[in-house]
Amino acid sequence: MPKLENRVVAAAESLLTRTKFVAPLDVLGAIGWLPRNQVERWQQGRADSVEDLLTAKPETVAAALRTVRRWAEANGLEPSETAYVAATRDRGPLRFSRAGDEELELLFRTHWVAPGLSEARRGQVEAKRTKVPDLVVVEPAAPVVCSDCGDTGELVVEEADRQLCLTCADLDHLVFLAAGNATLTRRATRASGLSAVVLRFDRARKRHRRLGVLVEEAALESAERTCLADADVRERRRERDRERRAHQDVDFRGALAERIVAMFPGCPADRAEAVALHTGTRGSGRVGRSAAGRALDERAVRLAVVASVRHEDTDYDAALMRGVPRDEARRRIADDVDRVLAGWGG
Ligand SMILES: [Zn+2]
Repeated sequence: MPKLENRVVAAAESLLTRTKFVAPLDVLGAIGWLPRNQVERWQQGRADSVEDLLTAKPETVAAALRTVRRWAEANGLEPSETAYVAATRDRGPLRFSRAGDEELELLFRTHWVAPGLSEARRGQVEAKRTKVPDLVVVEPAAPVVCSDCGDTGELVVEEADRQLCLTCADLDHLVFLAAGNATLTRRATRASGLSAVVLRFDRARKRHRRLGVLVEEAALESAERTCLADADVRERRRERDRERRAHQDVDFRGALAERIVAMFPGCPADRAEAVALHTGTRGSGRVGRSAAGRALDERAVRLAVVASVRHEDTDYDAALMRGVPRDEARRRIADDVDRVLAGWGG
């Protein structure tokens, strides 16, 4: 066998032994053509195609991919086409080849699974194989103007041609947990229906550094209860409350809660309070920030309630985490949102 084939087959065999499946992208990584951080760049929508990032020539890469397929077929592995979606909020499809070449795209996205696995093992392999990348939020060097609403944000979600504030990216109800306690981070993230990784670009090292994660506050609290001493849990909660109070417009919050109940008489009072609390916090909240919201404009109030219903009463967050594109996720839950609002008399 020529030298290249040897390297490709050795890498594939090693992956198969360790994980019971072989993804062509992982083979290219294992033979040193595709650094891990470059794969992340691509997943985050910062590179158009994998081909742009590979250190080997396109024809060499194509030959390696065909070798993987030949080897897999000869060894009775089961092919499974796998969707690759971006870590961006729109969860757009990712492209492997620069020109969108069909044969190459298929070679890349076909995973090869070990035959004869037990049901349980197969489930584990499927979960690992089809795991979508974490949603990513970036802390820019200077505040950035949101492409959707025109407001400035301290954290932004980057998509191919736009940058969105957390509100427009449907992430502004999440709280920040700084990196440092791996167990706490893991538990909070696991308990959170929707989560995102927060990165900052390190100019000197020309790469992104992980600052922490954004998670649901309830998930963070439950993780803190299992990981930290009671005194620390209380102190952290007090800190978050202090922070919230410092950014709060109490009059606006009360007026908004009243307006919500007036527009949606069936909406539970504590729920209206929660929406108003979130929305009335300066620096977050579509309604709270906009002039229309200040005037408690009907449409703006409705948007605030819809945002809350999406997160609390539908599968929207779970769909985003599974990698469903945002527009598609919104379409799927539109009826559910209407049903809840109708139930509240809105
Ligand atoms: Zn925005």
